[in-house]
Amino acid sequence: MSDAVKIHPSVDAGIAPARPGFAGGTLSCHCASDPVTVEVGAQVAHNHVCGCTKCWKPDGSLFSQVAVVARDKVKVTANGGKLKVVDAGATIQRHACEVCGVHLYGRIENDQHAFYGLDFVHPELSDQPGWSAPEFAAFVSSIIESGARPEQMGAVRARLQELGLPPYDVLSPPLMDAISTHVARQRGVLKD
Ligand SMILES: [Zn+2]
Ligand SMILES: [Zn+2]
Repeated sequence: MSDAVKIHPSVDAGIAPARPGFAGGTLSCHCASDPVTVEVGAQVAHNHVCGCTKCWKPDGSLFSQVAVVARDKVKVTANGGKLKVVDAGATIQRHACEVCGVHLYGRIENDQHAFYGLDFVHPELSDQPGWSAPEFAAFVSSIIESGARPEQMGAVRARLQELGLPPYDVLSPPLMDAISTHVARQRGVLKD
């Protein structure tokens, strides 16, 4: 029905399922020589496509594809000297290759944040199959800020539904609940 709408190269042709027992792989930036490589030592969680303007996206893509993994499972294994934090003031410090612009991992340094301890990574930077499949679409309305036409949004949301990626304009309900649960515990509203 709406396959003219392109979401992201890793979902446009259908979504590959996770491989049972998959335990991580290597992410590489797009540099033809001396690429930065990052070893991810575990399967990722909460994989999704994201429409925000901060995540790294492949050329021409409306959405990024991003997932989380424990920060102690993320290790730079080659050419880390090319990495630079995109915006040191941002909640998520995105470590990007300053030559090709690809983001290798995003890290939260604020230990009070609900997602502290998790790094954000782009599984598409790995050529190993088996990563957790994207489950939903976050920050959908934000693609307008990257140039999507407002009148295109109905078709974009329809395509996301068709792909099995429920569209949300912030994060998915389980992640929004996790953030509020964290805040409620910090404030003493929730005591267990
Ligand atoms: Zn690079
Ligand atoms: Zn994003």
